[in-house]
Amino acid sequence: MKKVGVLALQGDFEAHARALERAGAQPVEARTAADLDDLDGLVIPGGESTTMLKLLNRENMIEPLAQFGSRRPIFGTCAGAILMASEVTSPAQQSLHLMDIAVERNAYGRQIDSRVAHISPESEFETRTHPGELEAIFIRAPIIQRVGPGVRVLATYQGDPVLVEQGQHLVATFHPELTQDARVHELFLAKL
Ligand code: GLN
Repeated sequence: MKKVGVLALQGDFEAHARALERAGAQPVEARTAADLDDLDGLVIPGGESTTMLKLLNRENMIEPLAQFGSRRPIFGTCAGAILMASEVTSPAQQSLHLMDIAVERNAYGRQIDSRVAHISPESEFETRTHPGELEAIFIRAPIIQRVGPGVRVLATYQGDPVLVEQGQHLVATFHPELTQDARVHELFLAKL
């Protein structure tokens, strides 16, 4: 069984651990750089990216995480997506530059602080998992404002990419760990 780390400094890491189990992997909570050793992949959960950054810097984990990402797949959701981006606005902040995407934080504004949407994934997503629309929970979500040429869009919502991949990495601006649908986690596990 694949061992998948879940960055457990802050945010909804426990929900990701359960979702990984549902998708057939063994979750391991990762809190230090040493915890990254012998993991097959890593999830960076949703939460508050600014707080996570503070804790990552305190633990000296920024460089080890970037290194890990050069070797192994990482799946970032919401705050995790923000941390993996190459450019962050609203406001600008440090990031891991693992995905060639630009994200604007809290971009849906106060009115749509949080919402459940039903989205039709691209056919490529469906052929690689199973067909059917995705229930997407957005919580103070960022918007992916730009994707680089190496980035593939697997689902959009209101015209903006919400599930994208680049090589071994996967990013969602919504929270697949909060629904029972295991397809997004399965898609990630297929990259390990
Ligand atoms: N708004 C948060 C941030 O900017 C992300 C929200 C989330 O992860 N659900 O970091």
